[in-house]
Amino acid sequence: MVDTTKGGMLFKIKTLAIKSKGIDMTNIEDSKENFDTCMKGNCNECPSFPGEKGEGLYCAKGASKASVEKRGCNCPECPVWINNGLSGMYYCIKGKAE
Ligand code: SF4
Ligand code: SF4
Repeated sequence: MVDTTKGGMLFKIKTLAIKSKGIDMTNIEDSKENFDTCMKGNCNECPSFPGEKGEGLYCAKGASKASVEKRGCNCPECPVWINNGLSGMYYCIKGKAE
């Protein structure tokens, strides 16, 4: 159904603007499977990985509690990133994809 309300139109315009900037519009599932994928050679082997206990899957869970220095980001090689059509990086700093 087409949403013709003012709010609906505004949402569509914002969505188009965000997509054209290459910003993620996907909520990543906060699952054990995705966490395990993240921690099998992706975030855990990244030169920027803050290494805080229990952390990972930043694209679904949000940013690290630690202060992170950018030294490269493994996200574009990660199956979670690829399978969900993500386009961002440094979720440990910026927070979750949405
Ligand atoms: S989100 Fe990117 S930069 Fe941060 S630890 Fe994971 S792979 Fe590295
Ligand atoms: S996209 Fe990045 S933050 Fe998300 S699971 Fe993969 S490596 Fe971790």
